[in-house]
Amino acid sequence: MTKIVSAINKENATKEALSQLTKSNTVAIPTETVYGLAADATNGIAIAKIFQQKNRPSFNPLICHVDGIKMAMQFGKINDVTKKLINTFWPGPLTLVVPLLENSKAHDLVTAGLGTIGLRCPNGFSREIIEKFGKPLAAPSANRSGRISPTSASHVATEFEHLDLLIIDDGPCSVGLESTILKVDGEVLTLLRSGGISKQHIEEIAGISVLFPEENSAVANKILAPGMMVSHYAPNADVKLNCDTCDDNAAWLGFGEQTVKTTHSLNLSETGDLVEAGSNLYAYMKVLDKTGCETICVAPIPMRDLGIAINDRLSRAAAPKNVQ
Ligand code: AMP
Ligand code: MG
Repeated sequence: MTKIVSAINKENATKEALSQLTKSNTVAIPTETVYGLAADATNGIAIAKIFQQKNRPSFNPLICHVDGIKMAMQFGKINDVTKKLINTFWPGPLTLVVPLLENSKAHDLVTAGLGTIGLRCPNGFSREIIEKFGKPLAAPSANRSGRISPTSASHVATEFEHLDLLIIDDGPCSVGLESTILKVDGEVLTLLRSGGISKQHIEEIAGISVLFPEENSAVANKILAPGMMVSHYAPNADVKLNCDTCDDNAAWLGFGEQTVKTTHSLNLSETGDLVEAGSNLYAYMKVLDKTGCETICVAPIPMRDLGIAINDRLSRAAAPKNVQ
């Protein structure tokens, strides 16, 4: 059952939200754009729960919500143009996709294993929660996949009535529209999604024209819509799916009880827990790929629940590289 707690009693709402976040659980939080399904952006299990609860069929990157520029700088590379935009538009409905800092603690399910991170500082209760939590929150809209974004606590409750979910109610969202997403690549600005802040206003502040994705060839074929993955996280090794044995000299990525004798072998979840498997997916693929093996053989992953997103990611990794 969902539990709605009013943000009017801020102390109580904060206490309840922090208690869920520290237990690696999700919490529905109000932001000025839409209600978000939030979880600790540095915790793989917590992030995997977002995908599971939203029933997302693929692992697209999530926006990482921060309490201001200082926290943002611990996760992304902030250049002068980004700084200008932050100083004008934060807190507010502008997400900046910037290069990921090498030693950033963001979990790779948040960045979808990309070299970039989407950062935004929301206004109001959610910013205060992030400040108290001391870590960023990944928070896509608090609705099941393919449904309309919720702009009130009761919308969220209807979406997730089957879940034990804490929902913080701070009334209707003031913007009620998703954030604008802007990619900053040096001095090249590309609008990935229109939203609460206009292209013209961004251009005015940055003093640079903003490109549409089709005007920027570096972006045109990459992530433009949720669910699309870019090629630069394809492993070097060939990936073979639904294996029940491991080829000679191949690495093994297992799931559940099945064990295979090979030099390099990892198990996404020995107990067959799809949330655990989702949280380990990128990291384990990277580790096995780094061994220099020619092939990674992957055990069958059930096509249910989070297994759908895991299989989606794996099938992209297994596809011929030039068509990804
Ligand atoms: P939302 O569902 O509102 O959280 O928005 C997520 C969208 O933000 C994704 O589908 C991407 O379009 C974009 N996004 C977030 N993080 C990144 C990133 N690291 N690189 C590129 N796009 C991103
Ligand atoms: Mg959404």
